[in-house]
Amino acid sequence: MKKFIPILASALLALIFAGCGGNFKAGTYSGGAPGIHGDDVVVEVTVDKKSIKEIKIIENHETPGVSDVAFERIPKAIIEGQTLNVDSVSGATYSSKAIIGAVTKALEAAGGNIAALSKGKAATDAVSSATKVLNADVVVIGAGGAGLAAAVAANQAGATVIVLEKMPQVGGNTIISGSAFNAADPSRQISQGIEDSVDKHYQQTFEGGDKKGDPKLVRTLVENAYPTLQWLESMGMEFKKEVFTVLGGLWPRAHKPIKPLGTGYIETYMNYIKSHEGITILTDTKATDIYLEEGRATVVKATGRDGIVVAQGHKAVIVATGGFGASVEMREKYNSQWPSLKNVGTTNHPGATGDGLALAEKVGAAMVGLEYIQLLPMGDPVTGSLSGNIEQAVENRIFVNKEGNRFVDEGQRRDVMTNALFKQTDQFMWIVLDSHNYPTMATKNNFNETIQELVDQGRAVMADTLDELAVKMNVPADNLKAAVADFNKAVEKGGPDKFGRTLFQYKMDQGPYFAGGRKPTVHHTMGGIKINEKAQVIDTKGNVIPGLYAAGETTGGVHGTNRLGGNALADINVFGRIAGTNAAAETPAK
Ligand code: ADP
Repeated sequence: MKKFIPILASALLALIFAGCGGNFKAGTYSGGAPGIHGDDVVVEVTVDKKSIKEIKIIENHETPGVSDVAFERIPKAIIEGQTLNVDSVSGATYSSKAIIGAVTKALEAAGGNIAALSKGKAATDAVSSATKVLNADVVVIGAGGAGLAAAVAANQAGATVIVLEKMPQVGGNTIISGSAFNAADPSRQISQGIEDSVDKHYQQTFEGGDKKGDPKLVRTLVENAYPTLQWLESMGMEFKKEVFTVLGGLWPRAHKPIKPLGTGYIETYMNYIKSHEGITILTDTKATDIYLEEGRATVVKATGRDGIVVAQGHKAVIVATGGFGASVEMREKYNSQWPSLKNVGTTNHPGATGDGLALAEKVGAAMVGLEYIQLLPMGDPVTGSLSGNIEQAVENRIFVNKEGNRFVDEGQRRDVMTNALFKQTDQFMWIVLDSHNYPTMATKNNFNETIQELVDQGRAVMADTLDELAVKMNVPADNLKAAVADFNKAVEKGGPDKFGRTLFQYKMDQGPYFAGGRKPTVHHTMGGIKINEKAQVIDTKGNVIPGLYAAGETTGGVHGTNRLGGNALADINVFGRIAGTNAAAETPAK
């Protein structure tokens, strides 16, 4: 009976509100409103005299995969409720607001009474209280990169899998990540003349984390990075032919996917999942408890749109819930390294609230390194997100402060650069580069945005000379010119320069020049659930918790105090795969 209540309620709302804001001129109208990247989402809305009949999305440049659920649910909710007062879809807030804004414009054109149409309320997330029991060999909590890697690997090892995901869509932080994947690569690096090895990757990772990482976990990461990259390629994922140095990566061993952001990883896993039997994904389903039976993790309780879900994993449970960068409360609780992070933005999606830590802690898991929170000097000044970042490669850009001066080695560790940024006026800096990075205005950054779009939106400035650029940046031109001249001298010499920078490629001498503003932003939480190299969860007494695995950003101990850029994608895929394979090999609970 309860199931019918939301349907009846929405029908009733439709009856109550149909006509209130109606009085339309029947026909089809279009409208647009800016989405996440500033481009319009364009809709076409068909109305008759009294009601909204149909909403079509005609054009959008939103992030593939992230906004799909908003495109499905928001138009439906507007039509069912005959109201513009519709909740945004969690994790796709910008896209949701863009759709509502675009429909509002179309309805204005249709002569609708927008004030009346904004009353009433349509639920996009009605919840019932039924209980559903589901069974599989393995239950995975979280459908980001680590969780999906685990699900696929477990399935390849013959297990059936249930994946519980609290957000309306899969992908987590992985899908919106910078996507660089570090691996010592015997084929690409040799053809680029780059010297590297698994040992060098080990040494830089371990030392880059101030030797606070667990050597066994670091070894597992670097040794499995390249085989895991090949595993992804075997499932159809494509990476560019050349490796590069990612921000804070210290060495040119980062692999860039062909697809934008982290969409390539998620699409690869989802394509596998759709074309194979045995993996069920439940979105909008938040895990609330893990239960041990005779000391063994087997059951996960979750709350979903259709009620309570009890998922029984006869072999194992894998926690892959990501980090806690989006939880201001947890940041405040554990931060001991940085000034207050209360008002600092984050690159993270809103679901990165550290749920897995509490879930695992309740069943006795040990935690490690929770105080190590990674910030980037690369946040959008308004949103904290990575989008709008104009850098293309570490070698070819400099950072200058509001006085137009450089202040740090821009090839350094992420914590070093961000600490230096915190000391600058307004904690603000410009990334400055030249047209070597953007040979045409249609050249895109790493976030699928063209430089033309960024300039048009005022998120980057552009000028033919450094003098003119300085005016647009509002910094002293002499300082900016001196900073670029010094940099160019260091390029000629091959470094190191006065900041100790050694990573260089081209001189900055080809206009047009570009600059984009950036601020510190919370990016990654290095601490979390303690695991061993098999991805098994370790309890506070140092013993394995039978049947319980964890992988990805929810775990601690891999990166020490500071994660190298490009090591997160390696981590989540490597340990997700290990967790899935080992979980599938467990002996089922009796
Ligand atoms: P990782 O990079 O470690 O895979 P991601 O952030 O990409 O981390 O993915 C973690 C996923 O886990 C996200 O999609 C997030 O919404 C999901 N998640 C977090 N907490 C829960 C929870 N309590 N129940 C189900 N899913 C969760």
